Amino acid sequence: MSTPQDQAEKVIEVMDLRKTYGETVAVDGVTFDIRAEEVFALVGPNGAGKTTTVEMLECLRTPTAGSATVLGQNVTTDARSIKADIGVVPQSFHTFDRLSVRENVALIRRLYDDGLAVETVLEELDLTEWAETPFQSLSGGLQRRTGMAMALVSDPAVLFLDEPTTGLDPDARRTTWEQIRGLADRGTTVVLTTHYMEEVERLADRAALLLDGTIEAIDTVPNLIERYGGAIKVVVKSTGEPAEDEVIETILEDAASEVYRTDTGDLVGHFEDRDHAQETYSRLQEAGEGRAIDLISAGMEDVFLQLAGATPDAGGEIE
Ligand code: ADP
Repeated sequence: MSTPQDQAEKVIEVMDLRKTYGETVAVDGVTFDIRAEEVFALVGPNGAGKTTTVEMLECLRTPTAGSATVLGQNVTTDARSIKADIGVVPQSFHTFDRLSVRENVALIRRLYDDGLAVETVLEELDLTEWAETPFQSLSGGLQRRTGMAMALVSDPAVLFLDEPTTGLDPDARRTTWEQIRGLADRGTTVVLTTHYMEEVERLADRAALLLDGTIEAIDTVPNLIERYGGAIKVVVKSTGEPAEDEVIETILEDAASEVYRTDTGDLVGHFEDRDHAQETYSRLQEAGEGRAIDLISAGMEDVFLQLAGATPDAGGEIE
């Protein structure tokens, strides 16, 4: 069955794209598309092939085989016009460190015939109050935001962000997510690479999981979680008195597909169906009279665990 999303305009189409370096296969024949105005995440641990894939789409690396189009243009033959139509924020980018935020953005603006007013972009990214500050005096989060402003001032139809929140503190990360979401809501297609599962859940409409240069799964984030995330868990915290658990245990045993006790004495029930889990959770709360009970949904961490056998650590490494 096709959904409205399937029918959305395809901004990027990738067919069996491949990149090898000698014996090393960086990208092993990936096929996917990216639709207008969505936030699309390429997710995977370090070395999975994320950067190589997006850099082929940005016309910075030449594919070994396969094909890709960006806004209907071929990455191997139309590099010049693609580069004019996209915005790119790499993990590290070049600026004039002693020039202010406004001066750096204005310099880029001059390279393009068409684009947005510098002040509009500064406002959009909440940079107006920092406009006079030299780039080198900014925090990491504000430097990254300036990079986004420099990429957006040409008013690109597609914005590529490589690991947009790596190294940022939780507050700066949340602000960045809100701003990226805002861009997509106002019509920019956003393609990002990341190894943070929370980032995927908070930000992405669809995600492709890349492992060893191959796409293991691709879908909307809720669909990925439903398909690969595994059970929804109801956890009844231990009181240290197993005898008090009898009623609770009976309710859980009757409702859940699987029940077990953890090393710390918590009772855990697995549910395949969210409504069923929710209903049992409510019944347990009534019966438990103030007992600590949690309803734990599956998330992208679980998806990754299922498909890759481990999740990337904070540095993007996987066991
Ligand atoms: P990711 O962005 O997911 O961390 P990359 O695309 O950077 O992954 O790398 C994928 C694989 O390709 C890795 O094994 C990496 O070592 C290799 N690779 C990437 N760029 C080059 C290069 N220029 N020369 C040789 N090998 C490379």
